[in-house]
Amino acid sequence: MKQVVIIGAGLGGLACGIQLQHAGYDVTIIEKNLHAGGKMMPVKLGDYSFDFGPNTITMPGVFQKVFSNAGESMEDYLELIRLDHHTKNVFRSGDTFLQSIDPHVVISQLVKLDPFGAKNYWRYIKEVNRLYQQAESGFFHRSFHSWLDYLSPGLTKAFFSVRPLETMNHFHKRFFSNPDILQVFNRYATYIGSSPYKSPATFSLIGHLEMNEGVFTVRGGNTKIADAFVQVFKKLGGTLKLDEEVNQIHVTNKTAAGVELKSGIQIKADKIIINGDFITATKKLIKEKDRPSFPDKKLSGYEPSISAFVILAGLKTYQKDIHHHHVFFPEDYKKEFQNIFVDQKLPEDPTIYISHSAYTDRGISKGSNLFILVNAPAVKMKSEKEVSQFKEMIYSRLEEEGIPIRKEIEVEKVYTPDTIAHLFHAYKGALYGVSSHKKKDAFLRPRNASKDINGLFYVGGTTHPGGGSPMVTLSGLNVAKEIIYQDKKKGTDQTKFKKSTNN
Ligand SMILES: Cc1cc2nc3c(=O)[nH]c(=O)nc-3n(C[C@H](O)[C@H](O)[C@H](O)COP(=O)(O)OP(=O)(O)OC[C@H]3O[C@@H](n4cnc5c(N)ncnc54)[C@H](O)[C@@H]3O)c2cc1C
Repeated sequence: MKQVVIIGAGLGGLACGIQLQHAGYDVTIIEKNLHAGGKMMPVKLGDYSFDFGPNTITMPGVFQKVFSNAGESMEDYLELIRLDHHTKNVFRSGDTFLQSIDPHVVISQLVKLDPFGAKNYWRYIKEVNRLYQQAESGFFHRSFHSWLDYLSPGLTKAFFSVRPLETMNHFHKRFFSNPDILQVFNRYATYIGSSPYKSPATFSLIGHLEMNEGVFTVRGGNTKIADAFVQVFKKLGGTLKLDEEVNQIHVTNKTAAGVELKSGIQIKADKIIINGDFITATKKLIKEKDRPSFPDKKLSGYEPSISAFVILAGLKTYQKDIHHHHVFFPEDYKKEFQNIFVDQKLPEDPTIYISHSAYTDRGISKGSNLFILVNAPAVKMKSEKEVSQFKEMIYSRLEEEGIPIRKEIEVEKVYTPDTIAHLFHAYKGALYGVSSHKKKDAFLRPRNASKDINGLFYVGGTTHPGGGSPMVTLSGLNVAKEIIYQDKKKGTDQTKFKKSTNN
């Protein structure tokens, strides 16, 4: 049996581990934290339960695939609930806009808020559907190593049809004219950790996922997805080592040979898969001489994606008016991205996003379990005072919007970009690795197979196809498929394949 070591038990690592274990490999996943799931992290504060990380779940079919490829059924492990009216948006003008998968609900609001948008809405959902279908069939299931891959016969047309040269903001202006409504759709750029004024219109396809397919939540908390992956992985015989950190990857003759843990334990491996952040892990775990394509200088030159300032707040009284997903927009949306990416400072007037899962799943927590997220630059906080002042500013803004934070809080915990960097070894605390501002970084994310080291692979949000819980899961499936395919092609008789796996 071939030995595989996966560094990190994020969704990408777990999905990859399940598929390889099912195909007959002997997989060990090593995770430095006490929980599996990486950024999909459960947090319990007193009687309050929170999901840290992915609150907005889309593309349930991708998760389903992990189970079905392993001969399991997702329904035996998870109950997914579709939120028909998923996000309430509140603007400074006092207007509100409820996002829904029902176009009639959307159009009836647009008639008043944005008549141009009302006229164009059917065209919009058709176009984002088209963008999604093109990207799905052309790009999601394969990796790209150079522009030549995009320009290969068959893909050139698909590549240019996903509007790679137009910005997201420009694209949305074709369909909507009210600046408030534009903010709602432009916010999708933050799902890939980027600015709508710089990232390609391609990512407007997120509109298809939210406005056509729907936003989901998992009964009992989204972290149940990671729990279920762990159950399947262990059921197949995989080994999960929590609270163990990999310190070094051994390379012999340009080939991955094994890992050394912080505790001094050495584990031999035929294949090594890094699920940790591409930049941090490459720099920290592989000697510079073994990675000529990625010297330290190059790795430090990447522009990190957005990070976050997160407050988990448990409110004593259940607040029925706080929606499952609730967004409070600022006066000047463009300035927020100027603050984050150019000034590299916390936004003066931020967009405030709240996830309140108890709105849908009342039994999940005592009172109201608010996950409050504000976009932040991937830089170190200056001081404790800065953290506390920023938190108080967010509370004041929410109180202006009628959310009684200060007098209702029973438990609270704050996470800054520094905490995120430390907890997950994320590059400067970036949520999604590298930003998608440069065409090169948007379309040529670090490749899934190492350029310099045979038998070394990457999965997760910092590699192809990108960040977000479904995308990282896809990267895990893609890499497993690639490894199985390569070994089969070599005709190795050392690996006994149970069955061919296809994603
Ligand atoms: C605050 C926040 C909000 C988010 N919101 C959403 C959302 O609404 N919807 C959505 O789809 N996505 C969201 N995301 C993004 C999503 O969580 C991530 O893209 C995804 O979970 C990342 O998975 P991954 O496979 O890349 O691994 P990660 O979750 O990054 O896990 C990698 C793991 O590797 C471990 N590791 C690293 N180095 C080592 C080492 N040397 N030894 C051992 N272990 C190591 C880390 O501890 C970590 O557990 C959010 C993320 C955050 C942080």
